[in-house]
Amino acid sequence: MKYLIKVILILFPLFSQAQFVDDGELGCGTTEFFPNFRTLKFSNSNEAIYTYLNEQNYFTTDSQDFIKYRVPLKFWIYTKKDGSGNVNKEDIKKFMSDLNHYNIINKTGFRYYLSGIDYIKKNRHHRLGYYWEAPIQSFIHKEKGAINVFIAGNIRKGNTTVRGTYNKISKSVLTKQHTSRTSLAHEIGHYFGLLHPHRGYNANKCKQEAVNRNRVYKGCLLKHGKICEKSGDKLCDTPAEPRLSKAVNRNCEYTGDFKDNWGEKYTPDINNIMSYPAYRRCRDRFTPGQVALMLYTAEKNKYAKYWTATKNNQPKNIQFAFDRFEPDNDLEMASEIKTENTHYHSFHSIFKGKGKKTEKDNVDWVKFTIFSYMKTKAELTFSNGNSVFPKMEITIFDANGKTITKRNIDKNNQKPIILEGLPIGKYFVKIKTEGNNSFADFNLHYKN
Ligand SMILES: [Zn+2]
Repeated sequence: MKYLIKVILILFPLFSQAQFVDDGELGCGTTEFFPNFRTLKFSNSNEAIYTYLNEQNYFTTDSQDFIKYRVPLKFWIYTKKDGSGNVNKEDIKKFMSDLNHYNIINKTGFRYYLSGIDYIKKNRHHRLGYYWEAPIQSFIHKEKGAINVFIAGNIRKGNTTVRGTYNKISKSVLTKQHTSRTSLAHEIGHYFGLLHPHRGYNANKCKQEAVNRNRVYKGCLLKHGKICEKSGDKLCDTPAEPRLSKAVNRNCEYTGDFKDNWGEKYTPDINNIMSYPAYRRCRDRFTPGQVALMLYTAEKNKYAKYWTATKNNQPKNIQFAFDRFEPDNDLEMASEIKTENTHYHSFHSIFKGKGKKTEKDNVDWVKFTIFSYMKTKAELTFSNGNSVFPKMEITIFDANGKTITKRNIDKNNQKPIILEGLPIGKYFVKIKTEGNNSFADFNLHYKN
């Protein structure tokens, strides 16, 4: 019986997805058939967005400090049997830093950290099928408490491929390896309740979003009030838009001449992260309405209590506070430190699901470069952060992986590590802690 229910649960979304897919173009294959009840909070009055953002201190905090949720991401990488054919760890770091970058510049309040990477080595799954394989795979592989991100070599959908998709039933994100810098931010935007601004662009007057922000429904069953609050993406601060795929040029200018059902010409934003401009590099923006909807959706998430970074606008769950160089727990993810720079690092806990033991982020990697034979001295100084200073083992490697030196540092011994006569090249610093603290931090200064 249990098995039957599972089969039905898996088949139903597949069947409906097969019927209600958005389109066959190279885009995000997310279906928008299932309603998002979270949007009801604002769809009776978009004015509530501003009250809500105000309560979150959105207008009085700058974007670097506006941190509301720290959300762990779990990556599942589909490779060929020999482990080749997909992203490497450096690419994962790029995915994460792009994701955090677009969240910071748009002051969304979200920060994402790496919970882990798992590899699925099967030739057959390297190119995931959109209708069957992808949803089934996303049910099989799942980490609770994190957003599950699947990266496939390619996602096949009929004769074409999609860049990414969000599965509403398994609540997981899928993207192909070569995608735009905003792809992950876009798919996670769906996870947190966002719809495409062009949703319903070719529908009738009761479903299409009107260009005019004050236009109201007339003669539509059960629909009244402002159209922009209920049609399209239900947000009035994202203008109504047609499909932008053929209506944006290389300079990210709108070149279309489309009109809505009321005869008004569209004046779309072509830079919205949830839109489909032909050139994905045109995308860089979330609007305040989109930010509010994402925050509100997160508030209702069952892991909200663990992800939240503030309560009543006071810091919360600081054991999960990760630093801005993460992920960097591998040589391939080492972040570069330049001379005369200080990097703040934390060793923090990783949320692994309700009632489960947290894991520790206990290794950070840093790299530096000796550029000239005139300047061959490197000086690394570790000093106190804001919390407990960790007991650390520091190992420095050259580019060939040969150990140059190994030192132990703790609160009573913060003597700088000085290396002289280094040949030109790249150097890697592995910083490891054995401590039992749920949180510890330090500053690292580098001088060449
Ligand atoms: Zn999408």
